[in-house]
Amino acid sequence: MTSRYEKTLEKALLIHMQTLLGMAVVAFAAEIVFYFVLTAQGTMESEPSRYFLKYVALPTGLNGICVLTAWLTYRSNGTNLKQKEYTVSLLAVAEAFIIAIVHATFPSVYLLFAFMIIVTVFYGDKLLTTIIFFAALIGRCLSAIYCIDQSVSFCADELADLLLAAIILCGIYVLSLTIIRLENEKREMMVRSIEEWGRMKETAQKDPMTKLYNVRALEDFQKKVQEKKLGRLPTFFAMWDIDGFKEINDTYGHLEGDAVLRFLGERCLEPACGMLCFRYGGDEFSAFLFDDKWEDGQKRLKLLQEQLRQYTISSTGEKLLLSISIGATPYTSDVELSELIARADKALYQVKKKDKGSIRFIQY
Ligand code: GH3
Ligand code: MG
Repeated sequence: MTSRYEKTLEKALLIHMQTLLGMAVVAFAAEIVFYFVLTAQGTMESEPSRYFLKYVALPTGLNGICVLTAWLTYRSNGTNLKQKEYTVSLLAVAEAFIIAIVHATFPSVYLLFAFMIIVTVFYGDKLLTTIIFFAALIGRCLSAIYCIDQSVSFCADELADLLLAAIILCGIYVLSLTIIRLENEKREMMVRSIEEWGRMKETAQKDPMTKLYNVRALEDFQKKVQEKKLGRLPTFFAMWDIDGFKEINDTYGHLEGDAVLRFLGERCLEPACGMLCFRYGGDEFSAFLFDDKWEDGQKRLKLLQEQLRQYTISSTGEKLLLSISIGATPYTSDVELSELIARADKALYQVKKKDKGSIRFIQY
């Protein structure tokens, strides 16, 4: 989830970058268009060379520096995502300032600053939005006071405009903070739901006594294999059943029987076991093996048999000399799970019938 969220932030940063570039290009194009419009109307007051230097070359050059710096920061490997977000956001305000200082005659220029505040909502960072808000507010005021256009005199009208712009920027800032808060709450709620769902799924797929996966998980596993969602395919499938387990229950009690099942579960979960084990139900278990050769798989199963033979009752130290019968078959992903189980079960049935406590492998 976290990495997915970071990917979204990276996407937002890219859009922000594109906005910066777009704004510089639009500002450049607008100045050129203005020149021809004003000339055609006969209202052009500046010399062409002066116009191009003041309204085209200077702002475009400065905007270009902003875009280039933002791009270098965006591409830099040594800068983390947060630092990139802050740098690009501040450079965006700088760009708005450059355009505003050239065009403070237009009261609507404050909208550029408003836009720069709104864009930071992407990042869901209240501090960043606050910094950009103050930078935008100061930028708007300075651009009005130090406008490079000599025809602009800072009079009462402009002051009223500036005041109104400041109030609107404040409103946009408060609105941005509210959106960030609500979006963050929504995200936290989603993270909690996903975690909760993950926990529920885990609980539904695990046997509480042995801590092994259950039949539902076995079906899920087979589905994942068939959908090619797993990198490594199993090579063998085995099923086993504790011999004479009813008698253990009858002789030593159900609680002791449970202890045996737990003991077997613990052995199955040890890394040395090397199989993906499931409690099939009752005293029956199943496992996927990943060994290339059957001899290696067989060794693992024999180790499990040996470990269970060592089981002793903890209170008395009595050795129960437990044994398990095992049936196994090669694994193929194109065979349905029910067929795989039937094949291993058939091998297990033969062991139970003729040679309890041993392993039977049926090749298909
Ligand atoms: P076999 O050698 O033929 O396997 O004989 P068995 O006595 O083991 O017979 P079977 O496997 O058919 O019996 C399984 C028994 O396991 C029956 C049931 O009472 C017992 N059992 C099933 N689940 C649990 C459990 O969670 N705890 C305990 N203690 N016993 C269980
Ligand atoms: Mg049994």
